[in-house]
This record gives sequence, structure tokens and C-alpha cells, in this order.
Amino acid sequence: MIVPLLDLNAQNDPLAPELKAAFERVLSSGRFILGPEVKELEAKIAEMTDAKYAIGVSSGTDAILLALMALDIGPGDEVLCPSFTFFATAGCIARTGAKPVFIDVQPDTFNLDIRDAERKVTEATKAIIPVHLFGQAVEMDSVADFADQNGLAVIEDAAQALGAKYKGRPVGGLGTFGTFSFFPSKNLGGFGDGGMLVTNDEKLSEKAVTLRAHGSNPKYYHRLIGGNFRLDPLQAALLLVKLPHYEEYTRLRQRNAERYARELVKLASSKTGSGTSERERTQWPLIPPVNVQGDGHIWNQYTLRLTEPGRRDRLRKDLNANEIGSEIYYPVPMDAQDCFAHLNQEGTCPVSTQLANEVLSIPIYPELRVDQQDAVLASLTSGLLDMESERPSGGASLAQR
Ligand SMILES: *Cc1c(COP(=O)(O)O)cnc(C)c1O
Repeated sequence: MIVPLLDLNAQNDPLAPELKAAFERVLSSGRFILGPEVKELEAKIAEMTDAKYAIGVSSGTDAILLALMALDIGPGDEVLCPSFTFFATAGCIARTGAKPVFIDVQPDTFNLDIRDAERKVTEATKAIIPVHLFGQAVEMDSVADFADQNGLAVIEDAAQALGAKYKGRPVGGLGTFGTFSFFPSKNLGGFGDGGMLVTNDEKLSEKAVTLRAHGSNPKYYHRLIGGNFRLDPLQAALLLVKLPHYEEYTRLRQRNAERYARELVKLASSKTGSGTSERERTQWPLIPPVNVQGDGHIWNQYTLRLTEPGRRDRLRKDLNANEIGSEIYYPVPMDAQDCFAHLNQEGTCPVSTQLANEVLSIPIYPELRVDQQDAVLASLTSGLLDMESERPSGGASLAQR
């Protein structure tokens, strides 16, 4: 059975008539830059994220860049960010001329480890970018305390976490700035690139709006050097069609995650015996993702860990052979990227290095059918059992060894 990692058509097809109507509305309006559609989406995202101001931008990447620019971060400054993240988080820091300083993550939540930030903060540090990875909120109280103590701005990279909650509060509006992405693989996936920047600070909001259009205010008068970071009204109009369904999409992702968790625990205990010793349990090589935020986790990805070298790649081959989509988010931590070699930080984030070798994301999208999820589970099970039977002890089940 074919099970893609993500099935955009399954989500968009039922909305096709409304999407076409939205396109026609923008077409006949003749207005293709900013305007009422963008304003409406901004208002709705502000409401969803409990933030006073929302600014529609050209991508999640540009949202981060714009936040850094509005904070005047540049050469001589340092900005802390996790090493285990998508490139944009670190790339934007470097593009301002500031130095990204990579901090390690926690192996259970994949999110930043504030104790490592405490070791790496310096006089030059101006900001920290917590990333709510895979849709799960960072432990924000400790980030806020750390930022307060060190006088840092907080830019939440919530590209994967629209609607995710930390202690019941939506992410994005918790820091100085929050950034979101509408890249098609995000939970609110658009029809091209798009993003949103949110903040509760009026002055910073005004500055970001100015920077979004070349820093001009009024038009053709530039006090600031900005860029073109605008969200298209066509994109906004299409996203407004999907937005009313967003809660349902999240609910379905959560349902799928719960089912995976149940089935994977069952599988592990059937192979290691229930109430087994720590030794036996620790030999089972598959670790399902840990959810510490309950309903607040929106599951942009469902990411397994496979301990023991080579198992992840082997299992991914099996999934591929069974036409089941999977992806490695992320195979190379930022500290080990070629473009950051000059920063001499390689190896400073050992957990990130370990995770890069262990993680595997499997299909979790809302429209995933039960029979498809069963196919994913069956493929995982047979792949794992094959590997177990090849252990040197010769086919003995884990409980017997
Ligand atoms: C997707 C993503 C971005 C960038 O968003 P784009 O809209 O693709 O530019 C930034 N940070 C993280 C963590 C992401 O997952």
C-alpha cells in the first residue's frame, strides 16, 4: 500500500471549489500586493496566537530574518539557537552578520537544553531562538527566566507549531517575536511560500511593518534598510479557506499520534515482555516521541528514534521497499554544516549529533487512513523483527536473552 509522508491532495481536494472561488475573488479584485485578504489572515493569526500584532510575510524564513532586523541584530552580536533544527533558524542569524551560537537539545523532546545555553551565553549574546520542533512547545518558562537574567530578546521559531500550546498558552506570542511558516509541509500548508510574524510590542511591530516593504515610510523615504518580505493576497485568500478546518486537522494528527503511541508500546512490550527488567527494555531499539505538552502538541512530525548504529537507515530502506514515506529531520546538525565550519563549533552539541543518526519521521498527516497507518506499523514491526533475528545471539527474542 502506498503511504506518502504527506498527502496534500487529500487535504486540498475537498476544498477545491472554495479555493477556486478565493482565487477568482483575488483575480477580479485586481489587487495583488497586501490588501484586505492579508489583513484578515493577520487578524485571525493574531487571535489564534494571543498576540497583539501579526504581520504577513513571504516565508517562515523571512519572518525570522525580519525579527532579527527589527531587533537591530548584526555584526558583533551573538544569537543562541538549537543545533538540531531546520537550517533557516541558523541561516537567518548568519545573514544579519551576527554569529549563531549552537546549543544542544534534549534527547526526549528534541527541544533546546537551556543548561547548554547557560554555558554558552556571553557579553555579546543579544537573543535566543527557541524552536518548537515537530510541533511541541519548548519549556518556555526556563527560556523566559534565562532571557530575563541575561537581557536577551526571545524569537520563537514556531514554523512547525501554529496552535501548539505551552501550559495552555499558544506559542508565538510568548516571546519578543514569534515566527510561523505556511510552507506546504507545515500544519497550515499554503500553496507556495508564506509566513507570519507576531509580537505584542507595538514599536517593534511598526518597525517590522516598515522593514517588510524596504524600510520606507512614507513611500520612497527610507530611514531603514528593509527588503521585500510581503505575503501575497492570493496566498492569504487560499489560507483563509483552510483556516476554519485547522482545529480538525490538529485533532486528527493528535488521534494518529495517540494510535502510534499505543501500538508501539504494545509492540515493545510484546517483544520485551511486560514488566521486564530495565536491561531488556533498554535493548528494544525503537523509542517513540515523548509528548510532555499533552493536547498542546500539534504533531507536525511524528519522529521515532532508533538506537544502535545503522538501524534507522535499515528501517528506512524497509519502509521505502513497502512504498511508505519517511524522512530524516534532520541528518546534519547545524554545528556540523559546511557553511558554519569557520565557526569552529562542530562537536559542541553531542545530543544533536546523536539524534541526527537516530531520528526517522513517519506519516502523521490528518488524512492518514487507519489501513494506511496499519501498513506503516506492519512495516516497522517486520523490519524491527528482522533486525532482532539477525542479532549475534541467533534469533532469540529479546526477552530470552
Ligand atoms: C520550515 C521552517 C522554517 C522556514 O520556513 P519557510 O516558510 O520554509 O521559509 C524555519 N524554521 C523551522 C524550524 C522550519 O521548520
